[in-house]
Amino acid sequence: MRVIDLVTVSDAVRALLLECAFRAGPDLKAKIKEALDKEESALGKDVLSQIINNHEIAENEEIPLCQDTGQVVVFLEVGGEVVFKGDIEAAVNDGVRRAYAEGYLRKSVVGCPILRENTGDNAPAIIHAKITNGDKLKITVVPKGGGAENMSAVKMLTPAAGEEGIINFVLETVRNAGGKACPPLIVGVGIGGNLEKAPLLAKEALLRDLYDSSPLPQICDLEEKILAKINETGIGPMGYGGRVTALAVKINTFPCHIASLPVAVNLQCHVARHKTIIL
Ligand code: SF4
Repeated sequence: MRVIDLVTVSDAVRALLLECAFRAGPDLKAKIKEALDKEESALGKDVLSQIINNHEIAENEEIPLCQDTGQVVVFLEVGGEVVFKGDIEAAVNDGVRRAYAEGYLRKSVVGCPILRENTGDNAPAIIHAKITNGDKLKITVVPKGGGAENMSAVKMLTPAAGEEGIINFVLETVRNAGGKACPPLIVGVGIGGNLEKAPLLAKEALLRDLYDSSPLPQICDLEEKILAKINETGIGPMGYGGRVTALAVKINTFPCHIASLPVAVNLQCHVARHKTIIL
């Protein structure tokens, strides 16, 4: 067994969140630069240039990439040989609190969804834990902005809806979002599982490298087909019109019931913050 100190966990969460807030990932930066070459509309090009400028300013001056610094989602993959002496969720939330206080990041969480009082420290995080083999702990943080999350959707299709039904639902979700989800988007799609599994698949799909493709040939084709259709909508960067509405479509799948075809679409905005560490 391997004991992982909870202070190390808290420190890692803090560091990952500060890194996320100020620095765009290398794959995202490269995709935005490619989008600038592809974009045909003058306004769209202007938006993409400003996003590139914003990446540099945020990184050099250590100021947030966006004023909406997000509600934090944390994925933990815990090796079966790992032992924590204490409360792992408390350690994660301690890291969240310290990052948002020390980085002067906006506190964007209300305690009760009806009373709407800000918790004042951006805690609690939404934590998903999975048990894996070995003695390592993998931590992924995803500070998710409200705009793109609000325009995400889940639908329980019937198997008869098939591929066409899936494509139509993804397109309907993207069209409905328009500029509100802050495109160019990364579109995470979860197909299969059940009512709670499909959205989780969609969110996990957002963690993939922007240059990878599904290892399943049929799903890889579907990713390309949907991306092309999204970019034909003309929504464009920040909804000002143009060719580049999405940078990538990522589809993760899971087995499902013979009577079901759950589909979830998790929209990710152009700041697309997420970082991972393995301890
Ligand atoms: S959706 Fe993303 S880019 Fe838009 S305001 Fe929220 S965090 Fe910022």
